[in-house]
Amino acid sequence: MSAAQDSTASTGVRLSFGFGTDRGLRRELNEDAFLAADPLFAVADGMGGHEAGEVASRECIKTLSSQGVLTAGSRAATAAELDHALREADTRIRELTNARAGTTVSGVVLVEERGVPYWLVFNVGDSRTYRLSQGSFSQVSVDHSEVQELVDAGFITPAEALTHPRRHVVTRALGTGSDTEADFWLVPVEEGDRILVCSDGLSGEISDEQIHRALGTLRHPQDAVDSLIQTALRSGGRDNITVVVVDASNVHGNNSGETLNTAQMPRAGAEDTLPRMDPATEPVPAQPQAPIPVEVLESIPESVLSPAATLPETSPAAHAAAAESLHEENHG
Ligand code: MN
Repeated sequence: MSAAQDSTASTGVRLSFGFGTDRGLRRELNEDAFLAADPLFAVADGMGGHEAGEVASRECIKTLSSQGVLTAGSRAATAAELDHALREADTRIRELTNARAGTTVSGVVLVEERGVPYWLVFNVGDSRTYRLSQGSFSQVSVDHSEVQELVDAGFITPAEALTHPRRHVVTRALGTGSDTEADFWLVPVEEGDRILVCSDGLSGEISDEQIHRALGTLRHPQDAVDSLIQTALRSGGRDNITVVVVDASNVHGNNSGETLNTAQMPRAGAEDTLPRMDPATEPVPAQPQAPIPVEVLESIPESVLSPAATLPETSPAAHAAAAESLHEENHG
């Protein structure tokens, strides 16, 4: 399945995104699940035999998508609320599968504080969230896996991790095992930012360099998604492959509509980075080059990190239905 959509929030940041999932060439089932619906973009990779993994990953996405603050173009989500939702997903998966199945999950929520947008990145397990920003490509999430621990300890290189026999062993997951804690990062949104969320069927099959090349050369997010999935299939397609690509534009403008105020903008190519010239735009805080864990980020207003006073009410049933339709798979 694949499709592409656009959405614009009232405060101006415009997201366009593409998504797709493929069973791959070796697996009987597709146990990945995902959601791509502003402001939440997430990929879950289920584990556990006989469809249990599929139950776990779907339940995870369903739980996240039923949280009002994570739906319907909301920009008010906090790390605390997201953490609460992930714990709820863990509980529900344990109940459904008797803790015999689990799932990874990684992704981003677009949040705003005083008109300044941030990517709230989250991760449990070894699905991944990457960011291509101002030409710089990096993995934001840090895997919870045995090979990541070996890399961190200096025993193997990231390249060796790709082929290490223990590369599929995750050290944290929702629904199974003892460690389910999520990590969070809060990263300022830059004009032209491109976020990639994927399962290890992509990142375990092709190199970061190949991923960077596709993201850096294909302008439309759906084209990047389709190309990445095809490349992973050509490389062997040994696992389910799920890819979500999200582009941010109009980051520093206050335009809620389609058109920029060109009188204030120098002439530039349609896709060029736009200068921050709108006098109504608030100053943007210092831009760190690398993502900073929420725990140590002191310059972020507290309200981003703590539960919002009021949450928008939305129908959980409606969003659950939307989530179901989103991760239906079609293997042809
Ligand atoms: Mn996988």
